[in-house]
Amino acid sequence: MAPRGELFLYNTATRKKEEFTPLGDVVGMYACGPTVYNYAHIGNLRTYVFEDVLKRALLAFGYKVKHVENITDVGHLASDADEGEDKMRQGARREKKTVWEIADFYASAFKKDIAALNVTEPDVWCKATDHIGDMIKLVERLERNGFTYTANGNVYFDVSKFPRYGDFARLNLEEQQAGARVDVDESKKSPFDFVLWFTKSKFGEQEMLWDSPWGRGYPGWHLECSAMSIKYLGEQFDIHCGGIDHIPVHHTNEIAQSEAATGKKWVNWWLHGAFLEQGSGKMAKSSGGFLTMAALAKRDVPALAYRMFLYTAHYRSPLKFSWEGVEGAAQGLKNLKRSIASVTAGAGKPTEEQVVAAEGLLEPFYDAIRDDLNMPQALAAVWSLVRRNDPGPTVLREAFGRADEILGLDLLVPDSDEQVIVSEGAEGVPEVRVVSVKGASDKETVARIVEAARERKKARKAKDFASADRLRDELTAMGVEIRDLPDGTVECRLVHA
Ligand code: AMP
Ligand code: ZN
Repeated sequence: MAPRGELFLYNTATRKKEEFTPLGDVVGMYACGPTVYNYAHIGNLRTYVFEDVLKRALLAFGYKVKHVENITDVGHLASDADEGEDKMRQGARREKKTVWEIADFYASAFKKDIAALNVTEPDVWCKATDHIGDMIKLVERLERNGFTYTANGNVYFDVSKFPRYGDFARLNLEEQQAGARVDVDESKKSPFDFVLWFTKSKFGEQEMLWDSPWGRGYPGWHLECSAMSIKYLGEQFDIHCGGIDHIPVHHTNEIAQSEAATGKKWVNWWLHGAFLEQGSGKMAKSSGGFLTMAALAKRDVPALAYRMFLYTAHYRSPLKFSWEGVEGAAQGLKNLKRSIASVTAGAGKPTEEQVVAAEGLLEPFYDAIRDDLNMPQALAAVWSLVRRNDPGPTVLREAFGRADEILGLDLLVPDSDEQVIVSEGAEGVPEVRVVSVKGASDKETVARIVEAARERKKARKAKDFASADRLRDELTAMGVEIRDLPDGTVECRLVHA
């Protein structure tokens, strides 16, 4: 296990990279989950992969983590503020189903997507509709503390009562208010006020309604994250994360309502992932032309190749999607796994010393992670390890296994179409390795390959290049690709059509 501590993370709250220090023994981490009215697009999934890397890094650095994530199945309107149609209703109408059916279907589709991406599940999944009582209690608390008003049947958060409102997103409220277009909701005193509880829905046929002290209705979207994170992580916890679009509205509103209710600082660390871009802007469900995991699969791009593609940019930099980019990542991952299989063939169970040696080899990798999860650099550190063979297969296998605890790329799982059949030689210097690609190879053929490869090696050593070439031609005629690896191993890849 890497030494605890010395993990530097960029905190949106302070706009600085700071050394991470948790409040207690278990790091509380809340991630804003999906709104389940449609498939997640691969931009949304970029954010969940970034959050997964964060969690895996914390675990690898020796922390315990409690990860809580919500599923939004009510209250999220088309805009993140209080405008437009309820997204769940929009989904139900599109598919002629009930909102409950839509929520179930897309929540399980989301879980399948993240599983394919090796994104670990949270310790607690919490569905908004299962926590309406907690949300009502939070609004009552805000009401008691004097932060709410009721107008036209809806309960609003009164931003003027919370002077720090604009601090988090560095909003200049006066300037923005003057420039703001006339808000469609005339009941608001300020355009920054937001709905805590709707009773006067703009949409007559709202299916999801609950009784409340203010009348039958449904919660505003921001409320769920405050109510559920406080329920499962306490009134003060360590990390809250999401995509950067959440900074100015959703997270700003979450902070206002949580801190106004408890009177305490709510979250210490805010981490935000930048967008996956498509064409000239953010990939978005509302713009229609978004890509899903199914679209990647249709073009034979494996899910983990997409995860690898995401590591080509730092999580705080925008990343442009391109088919060449993901296809290149797919090839890169294949090559990386092949090289790893090659340098780790014949690895055994590591001794304590070998574990320490593996940790030593990973220092540059951990340094990259430590520096605000710098995945492009971390990946470069892994690539540089496959070029080393002096540590021997056992130490290298241990090192790649540990790196993969954070990378989540299944680096040690061989591609299903490749199988190492023979790997002969001493620890650290296997002589001949036969790999069968896309099919089985009979024993006799394998024995002939091993013999020819050995003979060729001898001939090369004796500088008998004519014989060496003849043996190579013989192997090529058998459909074998020969690679002379830096440690002296001859790898013979028998590729079946
Ligand atoms: P939603 O399901 O719309 O609530 O979004 C789920 C998560 O995806 C949120 O954390 C958003 O900030 C994030 N997100 C939305 N669009 C993108 C994008 N194009 N790239 C990266 N993350 C995004
Ligand atoms: Zn949220």
